[in-house]
Amino acid sequence: MENLIDNYPLVWKKKNFSIKIFCSIPNIATGILLSASNKYFLVDPGDGMLRDLDIELSQKKIKSINNIFITHGHHDHVGGVWSLLTYLKVVRKKSALNIHYPTGCVEIESIIKAFCSVYDLTIPYKINLKPISTNKKFVADTMSVIPFEVIHHEHKMSGTKTQRVPALGYKFIYEGKSICYGGDTAYCDSLAEMAKDSDLAIIEAGNKNEKESEMHMSQLQAAAVGNLAKKYFLVHVPK
Ligand SMILES: [Zn+2]
Repeated sequence: MENLIDNYPLVWKKKNFSIKIFCSIPNIATGILLSASNKYFLVDPGDGMLRDLDIELSQKKIKSINNIFITHGHHDHVGGVWSLLTYLKVVRKKSALNIHYPTGCVEIESIIKAFCSVYDLTIPYKINLKPISTNKKFVADTMSVIPFEVIHHEHKMSGTKTQRVPALGYKFIYEGKSICYGGDTAYCDSLAEMAKDSDLAIIEAGNKNEKESEMHMSQLQAAAVGNLAKKYFLVHVPK
């Protein structure tokens, strides 16, 4: 099994299609930057995303980002959204920002609502909320995107019971190459289907041991899904 744990950033590149995973640490933060041709995209901007982007890209390039993809609303996947939106306001972004997320993700809708109510008329760019409830392929700037439903749970406030949360994976396609990212998920057929024959699969292996879990995949399970793709990274691996 290819062991890429604790080896961040993880980078993959095929011609002018590339991905850089700054980090994917459960309960702490995720941060992923995609690039297709001369366009940039963010995926799951957790805490520290803006700091990593500032090191990676010029202000002009950060301002040109028009699409953010969210897999689900947990804090380690959306914790950097507020600071990103505020930064884009301060540097006077002009083009509209599309935020793609699973329908029913209250965290994203609450963050955007609060941001718009605090800054209201001083936001120089338009924010387009794009809730996703189907697996219909769409185009974002230079890239095609196929969203797909995955199975993710969270613990209820009391007790050990869990509840399902709105959660998506995404398959990003550019010039015949594809990257499949499952977000956080237990094993599901939709992920295996999408990972199959992808040039790169990014699979979470958040389960601490090999016991079956409805919360996350074990490393063995995740690697089995990853092996359906040409190459894979295991991410979100607990310490
Ligand atoms: Zn999660």
